[in-house]
Amino acid sequence: MPGAKEVTIVEVGPRDGFQNLAAFIPTERKAEIIEKLAEAGVKKIEFSSFVHPKWIPQLADAADLYRLIKGRPGLELRALIPNEKGLERAIESGVKEITWVVGATDSGNTANLNMTTEQSLEIIRRVGKRVHGAGVKLYGAIAYALGDPVEGDVPLARLIHVIEVFRSIGDTAISLADSIGIASPQKIRDTIPGLFRAFPDARWSIHLHNILGLGIANALAAWECGVTVFESSIAGLGGCPYAPYPGGNVATEELVYMFNKLGVSTGIDLDRLIAARDWVRSIVGEKPPKQVGHPEGT
Ligand SMILES: [Zn+2]
Repeated sequence: MPGAKEVTIVEVGPRDGFQNLAAFIPTERKAEIIEKLAEAGVKKIEFSSFVHPKWIPQLADAADLYRLIKGRPGLELRALIPNEKGLERAIESGVKEITWVVGATDSGNTANLNMTTEQSLEIIRRVGKRVHGAGVKLYGAIAYALGDPVEGDVPLARLIHVIEVFRSIGDTAISLADSIGIASPQKIRDTIPGLFRAFPDARWSIHLHNILGLGIANALAAWECGVTVFESSIAGLGGCPYAPYPGGNVATEELVYMFNKLGVSTGIDLDRLIAARDWVRSIVGEKPPKQVGHPEGT
């Protein structure tokens, strides 16, 4: 089945990528990186997380960073929140788009947030309407949606349950996250059509990691299933800090390269994106594995 001729890429590197970097990147430098990504044509960026600063000191400057970057026209900025306190801080900071993350499995959610899935959902039921009341766009992110290292496959009914809770509090787009990169193209084909049937009017995105090398193959499978919004990270930075083994997100530049080759529009200029990628690498000091750099070359 052919996918859409136009897709949207959400850059999550400043949140998912940077959160794993020990050396603090100055806030002004983070703002410059976001500006460079926007200049390359990226229109949606998850810029940080309102997680407790003690958990992830790298993202302690989320509110300050937002103040620096919020004025750019045409750039949608979203912040991740893990809990009620994060929600309060994000709303106080004036953030207009929030990704609220819940693990689909108890073991995953306990590793991330120290509570069961149902305990997280209870908080969402209780305070979720405040998000919409504050005029904030909400994205419900489901971590471990495509597999869990302890519990294995996640039953479709469990995903449907989490999605129902997110949608019960108002118009909520759903992000399916392969938080530890264990999905496969077949797993995606086995999961996404059923969810689309269960929620025919929902808006979806997919958040893929590349730990076992299937990130791009999974993105292709998701596109073929009808997904049109893809979350990825510049330079492939990232990886769940609680995953049992290290590894990055799907690289934004590889995703753009793939879609270019499919004749699918992303609105992103690959050359400028690669220049931004090289610059980001020079800042973060990462030496990631080989990735697309000269797409028309060898
Ligand atoms: Zn992630």
